[in-house]
Amino acid sequence: MPRKRLLWQLYPTYLLITLIAILSIGWYAVNSLRQFYFDRTVTDLEVRAHLVERLVSKNFTPNNLSSLDALSKEIGKSASMRVSLIHPSGQVLGDSHEDPARMDDHAARPEIREALSGKKGMSIRFSRTLQRKLMYLAIPVFRQGQVIGVVRTSIPVTFIDSALRSIEIKIGLGGVVVALFAAGISLLVSRRITRPLEVMRRAAEGFARGDLTGKVPVPDSLEMGELAEALNEMARQLDDRIRSITAERNEREAVLSSMVEGVFAVDAAGRFISMNQAAADLIGVDSEKCQGRNIQEMVRNNDLQQFVEKALSSRQVVETDIILSGVQSRNLQARGTILNDDNDNSIGALIVLNDVTRLRRLENVRRDFVANVSHELKTPVTSIKGFVETLLEGALDNSEDAKRFLEIISRQVDRLNAIIEDLLSLSRLEQDPDSFALQLEEAPLKELLQSAIQACENQAVKQSATVRLKCEESLRARINPPLLEQAVVNLIDNAIKYSGPKKAVEVVGEEQEDAIVIQVQDWGSGIGKEHLPRLFERFYRVDQARSRELGGTGLGLAIVKHIAQVHKGSVKVDSALGKGSVFSIHLPKKPENL
Ligand code: ADP
Repeated sequence: MPRKRLLWQLYPTYLLITLIAILSIGWYAVNSLRQFYFDRTVTDLEVRAHLVERLVSKNFTPNNLSSLDALSKEIGKSASMRVSLIHPSGQVLGDSHEDPARMDDHAARPEIREALSGKKGMSIRFSRTLQRKLMYLAIPVFRQGQVIGVVRTSIPVTFIDSALRSIEIKIGLGGVVVALFAAGISLLVSRRITRPLEVMRRAAEGFARGDLTGKVPVPDSLEMGELAEALNEMARQLDDRIRSITAERNEREAVLSSMVEGVFAVDAAGRFISMNQAAADLIGVDSEKCQGRNIQEMVRNNDLQQFVEKALSSRQVVETDIILSGVQSRNLQARGTILNDDNDNSIGALIVLNDVTRLRRLENVRRDFVANVSHELKTPVTSIKGFVETLLEGALDNSEDAKRFLEIISRQVDRLNAIIEDLLSLSRLEQDPDSFALQLEEAPLKELLQSAIQACENQAVKQSATVRLKCEESLRARINPPLLEQAVVNLIDNAIKYSGPKKAVEVVGEEQEDAIVIQVQDWGSGIGKEHLPRLFERFYRVDQARSRELGGTGLGLAIVKHIAQVHKGSVKVDSALGKGSVFSIHLPKKPENL
């Protein structure tokens, strides 16, 4: 059913009540008035009849016909009513409006009959004589206790009707005026009742839209006033609660979004309820788009889907490792806990994802490193042990062999020493790169490069190699001189070692657009492209046998890389097989970047 405005429910009701009241009062007034007027007319007719009776009672006989008739006509004219004098025989002795001779026997008329029986007679009926409806009142005329005639007075009913009609019209007009007035007042009253409700409705709609700051004006009436105050109180409490809920939610979201771990929750059907940014980034989805969508639909990874299903169906905490393939594959450690409501019913699951990619990679690196170190150390140790055993078994007696074997043992010990030295350097660099960074100082580069070349002089002489230096005297950089010298020594050493005899090595220090660059170039064997990406890894060698033969540890370039990093710089290599190599250390130019 269509709903009506309260105004249109109240107003017609008020109007109807008012109209019914006016009509009933009008009807009652008109009826009372009619009765009153009727009674008064009857009394009036009776009084007049008695007056006439007084006048006619003495000579009320058919003998006085003419005088009685004349008297009737006179009274009738002066009293503007009809007067009839009737003999008990029914003969009309006089009539104010007609010639009695022409009138019939009146004995059968109801009022006459009543009067003849000694009582007052009254009737309203059509007069054949006057051809109109009349109100008759007849009284008996007594003489010595005998009814000697009847005096009848009458007036046309239309007299009464017209008199009443004018009063009715006035009452009707009055009623209409009162009704109009009442209609106006009803409208005002209905408005007065409904207007505050309208204002409250609008305010409540505002509350529903979330505008809880507005206040409902409090109307004068007690009930409406209390309702408005209740609404205002409700809005205030609602505002307080929403504020505290929002604050709690913001805090929760702040905590969630600041977490490194990816966290998301799904409902019992596997639809996303919430997800923090870290989770969205890890899974590679848009957290907004995931809201309310099923995990099967949004996440392509089968393992993760199955894990969420397992978390939803298990009452215990579940854990697993998941590999997410993508542009970059990621190792995730997932932990799932069931979510329960107050009644301990499962309503979903909370999944926490930990990106352990780096950890796993480091574990692998460490495993490889341990294996490599063991292998590197094992080779000279096995060799030393072999020669010591040979010596013990008798080779010691042959002084020439013994000397040769001891020389080999000494070389292997040097090799072990070199490996241990390099490992120690690396571990120092790795353990505390920041403390090295703090020791950086503004120092001239040319001096440092000269000193590095000098350190390789023995090697250069052995290989008949020439080492050239190109560097501006004024070139300075923020460096840790002993470390950087070690890095340059490693590069020059490699260049001489892997170029073969009688080759040139060029060391250049120069200022480029965005860095200070130290280059060590050789024109030796060069390195295949496929090796370049892994060249700076620990123990990575292009040619294992050759490196060992030349006394390499496989750690030189790894040390160079770490030294460059301590200087917040980088190391690069450019090489072509058979043409030679260029290794360069790039140091940041602006001291404030350090
Ligand atoms: P190593 O102690 O074996 O020299 P490095 O870390 O210094 O270890 O070097 C790693 C590998 O890179 C070497 O084994 C060698 O094969 C290759 N390499 C380094 N420098 C050069 C170079 N200047 N020319 C050719 N190959 C080089």
